[in-house]
Amino acid sequence: MLTAGSRFTIPRGRSTLCGIGPGEIMKIEALVILGMGGLVLGRILVWLMEAARTPDPWGAEIQAALDEPDAVPLCPHCLTLQEHNGWFCPECGSTVGQYSNYLPTVYMFSIGEALRAGVQQRNRWTPLVTAGYILVAFAELSLLAPFYCLFLFMNRAKAAGPGHEAATGDFEI
Ligand SMILES: [Zn+2]
Repeated sequence: MLTAGSRFTIPRGRSTLCGIGPGEIMKIEALVILGMGGLVLGRILVWLMEAARTPDPWGAEIQAALDEPDAVPLCPHCLTLQEHNGWFCPECGSTVGQYSNYLPTVYMFSIGEALRAGVQQRNRWTPLVTAGYILVAFAELSLLAPFYCLFLFMNRAKAAGPGHEAATGDFEI
């Protein structure tokens, strides 16, 4: 018998809505979300598998020129031919050796060049480039990274100023 103070409860497992309990509704929703996620993932996988496979962004003609045995590497900073086996460009001092970035002492020079480019040179400031600079700064500079980011954004703001057209079209090499 129900009195004024008694509570009416439904036993666990009993139906509340068309014979399905709240726990079972959650399970069905989870299964539907999981199925839809799997379907989307499968479509993305099929789309990726059907795409043309191009490991390099350049064409076959440039790849053939790069694979020639007498091809000479260039300095990425000053474009001088590098006909030596050194780690640094004799013209500008940039790191150029094929395995320079695997050597801990030379690798630091490469990182330094990349980080200096972010605060001193003109760049194409896309959100991806900015995020990359910030990530490298926090990975390499730790506590000094906020100061680096300050100079990075000052350089970026300078590029977005009145000379913006020249900054995006004419790169300093
Ligand atoms: Zn150079």
